[in-house]
Amino acid sequence: MRVRNHQGRDFIDCGAGLWCVNIGYGRAELGEAAAKAMAELGYYHLFSSYSNEPIIRLADRVLALFRERAGAPHLSKVFFGTADRTPTTPISSWCATTTICAASPTRRRSSPDSAPYHGLTAAAGSLTGILSFHKAFDLPLPGVLHTACPHFFRFGQAGEDEDAFTRRMVGELKDMIQREGPETVAAFIAEPIMGTGGAFIPPRGYFEQVQAVLDENDILFIADEVITGFGRTGEWFATGLYNLKPDIVTLAKGITSAYFPLSASVISERMWNVLRDASAEFGPVMHGFTYSGHPVGGAVAMANIDIMERENLVENSAAMGAYFLEQLRQRFADHPYVGDIRGQGLMMAIELVADRKTKRFFDHDKWAHRAIQRKAYDEGVMVRALPYVEAVSFSPPLCITRAEIDEAIARFARGFDAAMPELRAAA
Ligand code: PLP
Repeated sequence: MRVRNHQGRDFIDCGAGLWCVNIGYGRAELGEAAAKAMAELGYYHLFSSYSNEPIIRLADRVLALFRERAGAPHLSKVFFGTADRTPTTPISSWCATTTICAASPTRRRSSPDSAPYHGLTAAAGSLTGILSFHKAFDLPLPGVLHTACPHFFRFGQAGEDEDAFTRRMVGELKDMIQREGPETVAAFIAEPIMGTGGAFIPPRGYFEQVQAVLDENDILFIADEVITGFGRTGEWFATGLYNLKPDIVTLAKGITSAYFPLSASVISERMWNVLRDASAEFGPVMHGFTYSGHPVGGAVAMANIDIMERENLVENSAAMGAYFLEQLRQRFADHPYVGDIRGQGLMMAIELVADRKTKRFFDHDKWAHRAIQRKAYDEGVMVRALPYVEAVSFSPPLCITRAEIDEAIARFARGFDAAMPELRAAA
């Protein structure tokens, strides 16, 4: 749970790095697995039907987890990459080979204040809905649109309840598909629980209704589980948590707890069949990188999942997530600048308001929540001030204990108090 700085001060890392060090720091077992893999077969690639044993074993294990722990036996093949940024790049090539999907993913960005995050390559950066990444680089690429941001607390209208909000969000998606022409829409991508864009949970019924719309229009669904995968939400995957039926799931971060850069895209049997059948006409999908599916990554991921299973870290994520959330609510629910406290498993956030009565938000440019991050750091706890809404997120390693939660929240509370003068000035 802890990292130490150059002055020897210790910090409780309530971010787990970038939502990724799921098993916690300092696990020598992963280093040993890496050393063994390097000694046995330091490298082999995945091009031209080659593969390597650790990665084949990992593919099997990931598919078994989806089958047995996420109710998703329809997922049948794994395409490995080197880091989180790679899972989204194969998507366009797959779409191009599926004649049912002639165009690109479609989403429309409606708000400058909250945005999905899918990475920062040209393709992934286009799917990411963050204006600052788009402006200087002429993004998004043509064919990428952004749907409205389904953050009820922030974008729900006066008098609108959560169910009506969901209907409005899904209605907008439906309209967009009709406007574009359903036959031109390849896929819809979403984080099941938004991470960097605000650490918020989808409004009630959202994915159920979105999936129905996608099914009606024969549009692929890509679940970006780069953050939510491997226990973060208190389930192995958000696919199981929300009973999703994605055609593609993207994975990274928790697959190795970030001890080694490795990513994966898991695809459905339906998609695989299209690719296989199209290969006769177009040739097999040629996609990958020199280091895709690196055997050391495969071995590290296996050791990581061993630890997660042996120490019941997914169950711990559910139990400690509930405790963490309850403690945050006990401590901050009545705070004058706290508008919302939310979470699922060990993925939580406190969103600020400048005025609780009128639900007026802080001026985004004042970055009020960054003051809390800074002061909390001074008190010895690392939390994250998110870039697009005034929310502070908590995503600690999944091995956190009650005592560590108590200590982290006590440190955070002292930091929050110390930030009050700056918050008052910003309000
Ligand atoms: N998808 C999600 C949900 C993420 O949070 C991230 C990174 O934080 C990515 C994709 C992209 O990962 P990378 O930073 O390796 O490009």
